[in-house]
Amino acid sequence: MRLRTLEIALEGLEGFGSPDPGLEQYATPAALAARLLHHAHLLGDIEGMAVCDLGCGTGVLACGASLLGAGRVVGVELDPGAVAAARRNAARLGADIGFVEGDVRDRALVDSLGTFDTVVMNPPFGAQDPHADRPFVDAALALAPVVYGIFNTGSIPFLGAYTGGRAEIEFAIGGIFPIKRTFAFHRRDVVEIGVEIVRMVRKEDR
Ligand code: SAH
Repeated sequence: MRLRTLEIALEGLEGFGSPDPGLEQYATPAALAARLLHHAHLLGDIEGMAVCDLGCGTGVLACGASLLGAGRVVGVELDPGAVAAARRNAARLGADIGFVEGDVRDRALVDSLGTFDTVVMNPPFGAQDPHADRPFVDAALALAPVVYGIFNTGSIPFLGAYTGGRAEIEFAIGGIFPIKRTFAFHRRDVVEIGVEIVRMVRKEDR
């Protein structure tokens, strides 16, 4: 599937109805989600693979992975309303995705998911809770040997320090995440946040 075709398919999906600022619910723009997935696909990390989307929100990344031929796709999300929207999005695309309502910080839940080939995620950037992305990194590396995540520009040194010897951190793609005025505390109509798509590879799996 061409990048543009994937992007168009993802553009048609339902977003967050009433986003929760505390959970940093910003749907990944279709263009950025498509680039992450297309890149992962080119590196052989999607087609025929078991893929887990952590904090899947309305399921953009999970749906895209499924469209690119992932063998098994599971999305994990805390917010029941977002899970319901993700299920509708998957149904609309005819994508067979398992959604699990749960907290990525819940180790027993993460362990119960089994193992995957690839994790894709757009975790909270930590604007509300400065360390909100850490449990995502931990869960991701527990679940799969290869992880793609969207982080604020400049996060690679943090990721390197935080993961210590556990993973090799590779810069994959840079991008812009336009955040539209969503919450009352936003002062501007659109703020563009620089992001980097990072590929993390568990060290023992290299
Ligand atoms: N992955 C989606 C949503 C990104 S926003 C997309 O790319 O569009 C981050 C998502 O993480 C939100 O849906 C939020 O509800 C969810 N989230 C935040 N903390 C979480 C946690 N501890 N466990 C599971 N999901 C969480």
